[in-house]
Amino acid sequence: MATGQAAPVLSEDNVNTASRPSELRITDLKIANLIGVPFPSSIIRLETNQGIVGYGEVRDGASATYALMLKSRIIGENPCNLDKIFRKIKQFGAHGRQGGGVCGIEMALMDLAGKAYGVPAYALVGGRFRDRVRCYADTPSETDPERMAERLLDRKARGFSMLKMDVGINLIKDLPGALIAPEGALTDSATMHPFTGIQVTQRGVEALADYVARVRELVGYDIALATDHFGHIALDSCIRIGRALEPYTLAWIEDLIPWQFTDQWRQLTEAVAVPTCTGEDIYLTENFKPLLDAEAIRVVHPDPATSGGIAETKRLGDYAEERGIAMALHLAASPVATMASVHLAAATHNFLALEHHAADVEFWNDLVTGLPNPIIVDGHITVPEAPGLGFADINEELFAEHLDPRAPILFSDTTEWDTESAHDRLWS
Ligand SMILES: [Mg+2]
Repeated sequence: MATGQAAPVLSEDNVNTASRPSELRITDLKIANLIGVPFPSSIIRLETNQGIVGYGEVRDGASATYALMLKSRIIGENPCNLDKIFRKIKQFGAHGRQGGGVCGIEMALMDLAGKAYGVPAYALVGGRFRDRVRCYADTPSETDPERMAERLLDRKARGFSMLKMDVGINLIKDLPGALIAPEGALTDSATMHPFTGIQVTQRGVEALADYVARVRELVGYDIALATDHFGHIALDSCIRIGRALEPYTLAWIEDLIPWQFTDQWRQLTEAVAVPTCTGEDIYLTENFKPLLDAEAIRVVHPDPATSGGIAETKRLGDYAEERGIAMALHLAASPVATMASVHLAAATHNFLALEHHAADVEFWNDLVTGLPNPIIVDGHITVPEAPGLGFADINEELFAEHLDPRAPILFSDTTEWDTESAHDRLWS
């Protein structure tokens, strides 16, 4: 270059060249199997030809195989083609834990696409409605209402404005005359509610109502309080319990009946003046539609790691909103799926609250870097502005300390999945 001449302006001088989105390709899929985060979860890492990586999470209690079997189907794809890849792989997901692979990969694609374009994941689904996402703290079953209230008050003192507790027939199983149950029915978790033959007596209904009344009295009425895990009891017992709980202004009663029984949900919702809620096991918006079209519930409660990830669950939220139904998010996850859910929650208008299941897990905040620590402040997560899911990196050293001993894998080679294939078309 001759002295005094201006340097030529290169076409890339004014753009972010951290990645060339149109040339980005997925080159590998690896897995880390964690435990105690709060349950077993597998973290997915998608690697690319441009050095950027994306993280997702196979939900609690699911098998990493659900993600690994998709490796050969996404290698070579451009992760920015979010909808194209989702449509290609969604046939390999199903309800409950079987949705874990497709959803975890969708989260990792969102992380990658956000990093490639330099925008937070919420921007990829329409922008945000809120700067902070309200979390609700789950609290597992306690037989003593005083002890339950103590645990709830501890969460309240930490700033949570919404709590959830278990109120179910296990609280009254030793109370004489509270339950009528065929032999073995109370320990049989495989039989669906309408078929167990378990009935709750008036004494049992009153004992559950007394439990909730005592907890409410101690925790106060200035906080939202949801309830879950009622047990495998049929509709009429559910209606009687629901009516008895009306005075305590619960945020919702959850999963009283399997989600498959739309009309029973509608009958329950019409019979009680307490919001009804279900959805944590349902895969894809199309499978929520019967409940939503029948207005059979007041609150839809998808788990983004089963319902379809960020974009699909945003579509579900919008569909529910048109029918006057609010959306809360079920979750029991590490910060990876939690942050994916934060972007979804930020971008969904009818969002109520996001479940946090790890209030008692000390190291939970340290599993990722680049976020405020603790991640949840005053019961809320600030929506991050960094690209993708918004955390800087995973804490691989800490991952190594919490590997699932049943399969202690930490992003090791997955070549054996490269040739997995089938004739995938669902029609002829
Ligand atoms: Mg539940």
